[in-house]
Amino acid sequence: MIANLIFDRETQQALDAVETDRSIWRSRLEDWCSINTGSRNLEGLQTFLFKLEAAFKVLPGTCSRRALQPEAIVNAQGQEAEQALSDSLHVVVRPEAPIKLVLTGHYDTVFPAQSSFQTVREIEPGVVNGPGVADMKGGLWVMLEALKAFEKLPCASQIGYEVLLSPDEEIGSPGSAALLHEIGARSDVGLTYEPALADGSMSGARKGSGNFSLTIHGKAAHVGRAHHEGRSAIAAAARFVAGLEALNGKASGVTFNTGRVDGGGPNNVVPDLAVVRFNVRVPDAAAATWAQSEVEALIGQYLSGGGIHAHLHGGFSRPPKPRTPAQELVFAQVAAAGKAVGLEIVYKDTGGVCEGNNLAASGCANVDTLGPRGGLIHSDQEFAILDSFPERVRLSLAILVGYATGQLDAKAPRRLLAQELGTNPCS
Ligand SMILES: [Zn+2]
Repeated sequence: MIANLIFDRETQQALDAVETDRSIWRSRLEDWCSINTGSRNLEGLQTFLFKLEAAFKVLPGTCSRRALQPEAIVNAQGQEAEQALSDSLHVVVRPEAPIKLVLTGHYDTVFPAQSSFQTVREIEPGVVNGPGVADMKGGLWVMLEALKAFEKLPCASQIGYEVLLSPDEEIGSPGSAALLHEIGARSDVGLTYEPALADGSMSGARKGSGNFSLTIHGKAAHVGRAHHEGRSAIAAAARFVAGLEALNGKASGVTFNTGRVDGGGPNNVVPDLAVVRFNVRVPDAAAATWAQSEVEALIGQYLSGGGIHAHLHGGFSRPPKPRTPAQELVFAQVAAAGKAVGLEIVYKDTGGVCEGNNLAASGCANVDTLGPRGGLIHSDQEFAILDSFPERVRLSLAILVGYATGQLDAKAPRRLLAQELGTNPCS
């Protein structure tokens, strides 16, 4: 049981001073969300990065761009290729402080440069609709305002933190996964700014997610003269896909989804190439191992021998984030901070994935829906509730003060994790 948080006068003043004017929050969102930052729009991402850099440079410490490794992809011709990514922004403040936090977010959106959804508008009083208002440029504003307010308090000296803002979350963090792991591994607790649900509830456990590309090679032949000499990669792909989809329902909480199939050519040629892309969601590590072995068994059954062979690319880039004791403790700490600013926080488990999965996999317990309340994300109906911005800034400020003053024990989650693993947290 965590005791009620008590705030000193300076903290209370900082909480009271959080901006509540809806028109200011709306114009902040208009400023950031009217620049398209689809994950593949490198030009838009680079343009926006200047704004982001200017905004986060007001924090003390260092603020620098981190180049990301290009994403390894399999193209429609079944060849491995590289796709460039934009840079991450990395802020490091007081790395020598006793408590180490990591705050993460992404500045890409799912809306490509050519999307018709490009502007912010207030669809009813206090509710804005626009690309990224909730997911998650709105969340980045919440993070920034909370950190700015926190920096004015004397207790800030107790916390060192790193902020990582990434350009590739909506495509699975292929480039920033390594950085998330590196920073997560040296941080006590993680705070990520995906939106909360419209009713204020936040994400509890998250499934893990794997993305795979399967390249299938057959043998081309003229359909009229030598059909029997051909080996159809598309027919083999169809058998594999049917087998894959039939795995749904075989294990609790595990889903398989074929997202796309490429391949083939003219109607009069037996196709010698197909590329099958699919996603797998799993509740825990054991389920991931099971799913991977089922996929390999299907490949053995349908795609090896008889002139057909296949290569599997990809894997579980976002491991599951189950409700471990360390994770439950951080949920309780954040709920205690919420209570101190008048919020009752409820956690709901979800099949969705985010950077919180990556942080959890590095041993960094975290809460990952600290952004504004909103919904219908990944659609042109995406909305955020303006009054939730000051509310969520206060929540983050209360969490930071709670850890800085020792009312919330930032070291306890890692101690619990070490107990679970039977290791010494100091080693
Ligand atoms: Zn997001």
